[in-house]
Amino acid sequence: MSRRPILAGNWKMFMLSGPAKELAAALAKSAGNLIDRDMVLIPPFTALSVVKAAIAGTNISLGAQNVHAEPQGAFTGEVSAPMLVDAGCRYVVIGHSERRQFFEETNGSCNAKIKAALAAGLIPIYCIGETLDQREYGQTFKVIETQLTEGLANFTSREIQDLVLAYEPVWAIGTGRTATPDQAQEVHAFIRAWLKSHLDVATAEALRIQYGGSVKPDNIDVLMACPDVDGALVGGASLKVESFIRIVQFQKR
Ligand code: PEP
Repeated sequence: MSRRPILAGNWKMFMLSGPAKELAAALAKSAGNLIDRDMVLIPPFTALSVVKAAIAGTNISLGAQNVHAEPQGAFTGEVSAPMLVDAGCRYVVIGHSERRQFFEETNGSCNAKIKAALAAGLIPIYCIGETLDQREYGQTFKVIETQLTEGLANFTSREIQDLVLAYEPVWAIGTGRTATPDQAQEVHAFIRAWLKSHLDVATAEALRIQYGGSVKPDNIDVLMACPDVDGALVGGASLKVESFIRIVQFQKR
């Protein structure tokens, strides 16, 4: 089955609105009309509106980096899923390893956020991945399995088909150390097999799995050549316009 590639740029806590607008406009100009792939820009909340304006009318969508599980309420400093929709977002990143590491997010809190995102009509990009210690102790598949079991608990196959998964080995994020295509493919295939055995074949075949972790112009093509790699979630290299343009213009080998 062919799955539509999805390339997303997570700008983390970088970019004031001026440079955000410039970068989004440059991407829109060079790649905004690519129609055989999905492209997503994920700026900080404060730059959502300028990025939204810069990508209007193109095939680039807007995403957010986090969401609260409640639709509204007395939660000072938080942003809800309906608010993200209101701001023009189509996607939201849930469970990024930096949020798990620094903001105490758990598989359980991710589950609640995924539920809230789906209820509002957003597409969650659910991030999973093992740390270096976990990999070295041979726990990679166990960790991934727990993140899937707990993070995706109580959703129907139909709901899960709307999700995007991002496999991001924590040891590869922002380190310049990328998983080899074989390492990425091995885990992506494991995830798809898990989806097959816990949900159904159609869901497993339809669901897109991005790879994330030091994706760059010089490794995107080999990663995208892996049969179970359906896209990339890109941090550092999405902050430089030429790099991100080259990444979204990946060539299938
Ligand atoms: C990320 O932020 O999800 C990420 C993968 O970062 P980087 O590409 O910089 O490793």
